[in-house]
Amino acid sequence: MIKKLPSNLINQIAAGEVVDDPASIVKELLENSIDASSDSIEIILFDGGKKKIIINDNGIGINKDEIKAAFKRFATSKIKNAEDLNKINTLGFRGEALPSIASISEVVIKSRAQKEVGHEYKISYGKEVHLKPSSIECGTSIEIKNIFNNLPARKKFLKGENYEYRKILSLFKIFSLHYSRINMKLINNGKIVYDLKGSSLINRICALYTNGISNSLIEIKFQKDNYKISGYIGNLSLVKQSRGNQFLYINGRYIKDKLINMSIYNSYRSLIARGEYPFFILFLDLPSNYLDVNVHPKKQEVKFENELQIQHIFKLSISEALKNITKTIPSYNPIPLSENIQTSEIPFSSKEITSEHILTASNSPNYTQNIKNAEIRLNRTEEHKIEIESNNVWQIHNKYIITEITSGIIIIDQHVAHERILYESSKKSIEEGEGLSSQKILFPQIVKFNPENYTYLLEIMYYLKKIGFEFREFGDNQIVIEGSPSNLPIGKEEETINEIIEHYIKTKNTKSEFIEYMASTYACKAAIKAGDKLSSEECKELIDELFSTEHPYYCPHGRPIIINLPLEDLDKRFERH
Ligand code: ADP
Ligand code: MG
Repeated sequence: MIKKLPSNLINQIAAGEVVDDPASIVKELLENSIDASSDSIEIILFDGGKKKIIINDNGIGINKDEIKAAFKRFATSKIKNAEDLNKINTLGFRGEALPSIASISEVVIKSRAQKEVGHEYKISYGKEVHLKPSSIECGTSIEIKNIFNNLPARKKFLKGENYEYRKILSLFKIFSLHYSRINMKLINNGKIVYDLKGSSLINRICALYTNGISNSLIEIKFQKDNYKISGYIGNLSLVKQSRGNQFLYINGRYIKDKLINMSIYNSYRSLIARGEYPFFILFLDLPSNYLDVNVHPKKQEVKFENELQIQHIFKLSISEALKNITKTIPSYNPIPLSENIQTSEIPFSSKEITSEHILTASNSPNYTQNIKNAEIRLNRTEEHKIEIESNNVWQIHNKYIITEITSGIIIIDQHVAHERILYESSKKSIEEGEGLSSQKILFPQIVKFNPENYTYLLEIMYYLKKIGFEFREFGDNQIVIEGSPSNLPIGKEEETINEIIEHYIKTKNTKSEFIEYMASTYACKAAIKAGDKLSSEECKELIDELFSTEHPYYCPHGRPIIINLPLEDLDKRFERH
């Protein structure tokens, strides 16, 4: 027998599409507040939204007579007929969110439209509890709690508090950048996470990140035919290992689009490496008949009528903006590692002096792959062990160390050599021992993180302590660093921790590859640099330590440490046969 389902069950089924986690609830409610022309919105979370969500706005409010209707399926004030569908200028219009949310949680909404008396309506798992007058100011306040308590199977799908909270943080960013004119506040467990005053886009970006970020941003203002692109892209100092800072809005909707991302990467192409992500906040506006927006509330995709044209205009606008940075950054060096060797000051091309001992750098962005490649090459070198002949060492250009060996001479890159030494010792002490020793910092340093990175920091605290960082929580997403790994130069602490967090965000594991990454990051920061003058004693010590490492021939990133110049080759060059 075919029967119509009870409405509450229909709502629960629909809720499966519209709301499946705290973040999707926040999204729907934020959209409602924005549609209601609010200029101040406050999001209050408990346990990252898992326990309770409250959203307060100062928008147009809901009449007493309409409060109940708002919770009926397909009830909306935003469209009236089919014609309206073609000119939607609100975020919602399907009238599904409130009934869906109310079918899976306990909702209390207080609302007051202008010149009316405010009312409070309570609805619990789809059942009305009460409607009564309330003393609320103009606007709407909605409280959602005990999500999915009536559907334990669905509740099970909610992840940990940090995980759900991070989804809301990322949503908050998406909205606050989009609606920079609206005051937006986010509070979690009684702590203010963001308190953003309505302002221009650039000011909003600064408030969301740091004030200094404006120096690294390039404005995009582009118009061609019917296309308009505006917003900001980041220069190279904002390139990150993860995608977190890329925002694209098309005709007022947040969209993820591979095609446009590719065009943007391509414009940066020679400037960034694979696996790196540029920063951008871009708004594309085009006639609505040029694209097909999938109106499903959870979809963030569009289809373009003319994809080639879209690619083209993004390339045009971004390349134009980047033109200046390629000119103004003198230190920028686009030559990949292996080519770098050829252009170094050694008066031979690397091809000619290549012997089995020389490990050419791999361009593979994959670090473990680099190590593997290097190891394969290394195996071939076993039978040609280098034996240092003389006591004579020379440091040239404060960068390379030269010494004599039985079969000729070797040239050592002092930075990568030291990096290798520190890498091995630190990896060993993290894996097997007590961890790296820590040096006390004379003036403890307070470091503030963005709220997302802070949750990640807490997850990897144990590992950071193992490589020698000593710190404690300081509230408001801050820590005080009191100790840092020995050898790490003062002032490098924040940068080192941030790089490790970025890597963790990318890989989300703390297995051996992560430990290797931590060791290599530390090694790279702490190692002596090209340009550091070394005494002849220090040079010798460095060579000794290098040859007592397991793999003296390549650095943790796969770059060669030693170049071997056999006498044979020299003889050949001097035509001594
Ligand atoms: P939709 O947004 O698709 O119309 P919803 O279920 O999200 O559907 O909301 C139903 C109706 O409730 C909206 O059309 C609007 O009239 C009203 N409403 C919801 N939230 C608010 C709010 N914060 N301020 C004013 N009106 C609201
Ligand atoms: Mg809505």
